[in-house]
Order: sequence, then C-alpha cells, then structure tokens
Amino acid sequence: MRRKLAAGNWKMNGTGAALAELEALAARYPTPEVDILICPPATLLERAATTVESSGVAVGGQDCHAESAGAHTGDISAEMLRDAGASAVILGHSERRVDHGEQNEDIRAKARAAMDAGLQAVICVGESLEQREAANTLDIIGGQMSGSIPDQSTGENLIIAYEPIWAIGTGKVPTLDEIGAVHDFIRARLERRFGEGVGRSVRVLYGGSVKPSNAAEIFGVSNVDGALVGGASLKADDFSGIVDALRAM
Ligand code: PEP
Repeated sequence: MRRKLAAGNWKMNGTGAALAELEALAARYPTPEVDILICPPATLLERAATTVESSGVAVGGQDCHAESAGAHTGDISAEMLRDAGASAVILGHSERRVDHGEQNEDIRAKARAAMDAGLQAVICVGESLEQREAANTLDIIGGQMSGSIPDQSTGENLIIAYEPIWAIGTGKVPTLDEIGAVHDFIRARLERRFGEGVGRSVRVLYGGSVKPSNAAEIFGVSNVDGALVGGASLKADDFSGIVDALRAM
C-alpha cells in the first residue's frame, strides 16, 4: 500500500509571520495516518523544520542545484536543503520549466543530486492547454517522465506530481476521467520502466487548483495518491481540509 501524501508548495510566499500557519498545522497533526509535506521558501526552511519538530509534518525545498557545491551564485544544493531540515524537494515545477527554462535533463540531474543527498524528489510533469487541445497530453507526460526521472528511482526516493499547467492557480480542474487517464498512464509507465515492485510503490500526486471542496472527489480517482497544493496550502485551515479529505480515504 502506498502511503498517501498531502504536499504544499508555498512558492515565493511567506516571511517569518507565515510560520504561525505551519505551527497551527503541526499542532493539528501530531501523528497523522498520511504524510504531510510543506515546501516553504528557502529562507524559511530551517525555522520551518524547527516549527514542525515532533509533529507529523515534514518540510521540503522547491528546487535544488544539480551539483553539491561550487560557484553558482544564488543557488542551493540538495545537501544544503537536507542540512536545513528538508526531507524532500520539488523539482521541475512548471513555473521553473517556464520561468527558468529548465529542461528534462536538468531536472534529471537535480533529481539525481537530491536522491544522492537522501532527499525525496517530487518531480512535476504536466501539459499546457495547447498540448491538451492538440491531444498530445500523454506524449508530453511520457517524454517528461523518460527525460527527467533518474534510473536510481525507487518508491522511497521518487514522487511524481501530475500538474496540468492550465489548472495551476486558475481554479480550472480536469474532469475526474481526465485525471484518472493520466494517472493510470503514469503508473503503467513507471511499471514498464522500473518493474511492478518499484512501479507500484511510487506515489503519484495530482496538482492544480486542489481545494477542500474538490479534494475528496479527486482523491477517489484511481492511482491518485495525494495532492501537490499551491494556493490552498498557505493557510492551515484550507490545507487541513485537504489533509482531512485524504485521511478519510
Ligand atoms: C502548484 O503550483 O503546484 C499548484 C498546484 O498550485 P495551485 O494549487 O494553486 O493550483
């Protein structure tokens, strides 16, 4: 059985005051039946790790460099994230693919570095609206998977997040059938590449306008093992609604 995961991506939001939300979340979930991960901005990571200590909430980064150290001004290595208290890192989010021109091979190199540093890599894949309308969704996802997932992946160090770009922060959500078709495809691809054991143990999250009001129906879709949540992860009350929907599954 794959353990369910509710993951939050705070993106470039939050200064020290936002830790009150994390504190409230940690207090609500001392020993939850599901995994909970919050990825705050790097500036908050160490304080966030202290805030969630001895709760069922873990913290992660939003990106890392492919190298462990060196002349890369402004970048952060996987080892540094780990040292600051992270247990995971989001990689290949569409905002990084678009804003920073990250390609599949960059993401694969970062994922290798993350796994080597003992972090779980949450690798994001997803199609644009144009690609969906051209019926290219599965080709795009398949290409992103083969290009960005490293060979050393296992059910422990890899998590996939399917995030249709057009659903991120827009309030638009694919139909449950559309979500199911992509998640089933991702599962089949994982099994084909890594064998049934590993392929069935990797968690596949859905991301894109998940809210307390739509979480339960999305979590009922086959091969959806949880969610990667942007906007609704910023407030403990909203994110708890999503966590509770997952716990009820
Ligand atoms: C995201 O950016 O990963 C995301 C899913 O955002 P939102 O939940 O706000 O759509």
